[in-house]
Amino acid sequence: MKDRKLLMIPGPIEFTPEVMRAMGMPTTSHVAPNFIEVFGQALERLRGVFLCPNGQPFVVAGSGSLAMDIAAANLVEPGDKALVVNSGYFSDRMGDILERYGAIVKHVRAATVGDAPPLENVDAALKQGGYKVMAFTHVDTSTAVVVNAKTLGALGLEHGVLTILDGVCSVAGEELRQEEWGIDLAFTASQKAIGVPPGLALAVAGPRAMDAFSERRSPVGSYYADWTNWLPVMEAYEARRAGYFGTPAVNLVWALNVSLGQILEEGMDARFQRHRRLSQAFKAAINALGTDQVPVRPEVAATTLTAPYYPDGVDGALLGYVKEAGVIVAGGLHPEVSHRYFRIGHMGAVTESDILVTIGAIEKGLYRAGHSFDIGAGLTAAQEALYG
Ligand code: PMP
Repeated sequence: MKDRKLLMIPGPIEFTPEVMRAMGMPTTSHVAPNFIEVFGQALERLRGVFLCPNGQPFVVAGSGSLAMDIAAANLVEPGDKALVVNSGYFSDRMGDILERYGAIVKHVRAATVGDAPPLENVDAALKQGGYKVMAFTHVDTSTAVVVNAKTLGALGLEHGVLTILDGVCSVAGEELRQEEWGIDLAFTASQKAIGVPPGLALAVAGPRAMDAFSERRSPVGSYYADWTNWLPVMEAYEARRAGYFGTPAVNLVWALNVSLGQILEEGMDARFQRHRRLSQAFKAAINALGTDQVPVRPEVAATTLTAPYYPDGVDGALLGYVKEAGVIVAGGLHPEVSHRYFRIGHMGAVTESDILVTIGAIEKGLYRAGHSFDIGAGLTAAQEALYG
């Protein structure tokens, strides 16, 4: 018997064999000519994946939280006002980080867990004026809520406020057109829809963000996150020269370049469409199984993951039953409702058959948990959505 579980959590996800092969290659020197070429190519490809042709990419070893730190450290100075459009756990974290670098932070929150903060409230807050940055979590991994990044980008432009998009659970899965939407800084981490094992913080800064950085009056409050150290390194590798500030995560960068190549080969529009289609099928199945979802309306539901509530009489034991059926899904994360729901990631290289296997495992788990439903209802709904 094969002893393999399908990993369907919202990061880390399952990676392609080509990416895993790059991870296992003999590690080269970080100044080897072939590595310089790969790093330079990965930086160029990041612009394509973020859809930000005039952006400055940064690839730094660390997790997504380092990318958050990089955004706050380089773009705010003590006393700057920052608005956080708060859709959950990771927006709270962004607020904390901005405060750590001396920003005066105001949050615009949704009325309930599972909703996005109303855009009118964001507009009203911005009208009060004085904000230097506005940060928002494109997809909050704790609630599976997506915010309207396009409109938030437009609001930022209208009010002359720099926009920071946490795309850790969105970039390369959820539709994001950084430059067209006027997003000044977008960032992600390698382990989600970008499709590379954990360990890289990835950011693309648009021209306004770079100008704000170069016009700083005070030094960046973090030595490791400081673009003063990283910008010359990124520029060097893109010009196919070696640069050094901290040793690059050589194998992760090789793997990143492979994955970015695969993403661009699929094409960004096709990739967004695949994520939408698989997500709709997954959500149709969850509805057919009689369970509600944390996002309160379809318009605020992300395409990279799904967050179903446990049906009445079912609890976290379900996750164990689903695992016995061969699929690993994640528990709840938002502190207010964490024990009442679970999460399934379906992003990156995810396929139709991954979706069907996962629904099948959830059905088996619900059956074992004693939930009453029509066996096969979820699979039927998913297949109708996929093939209908
Ligand atoms: N932001 C979002 C939206 C996330 O989902 C996560 C991780 N789940 C982070 C930030 C932090 O990333 P990391 O765990 O890689 O530090």
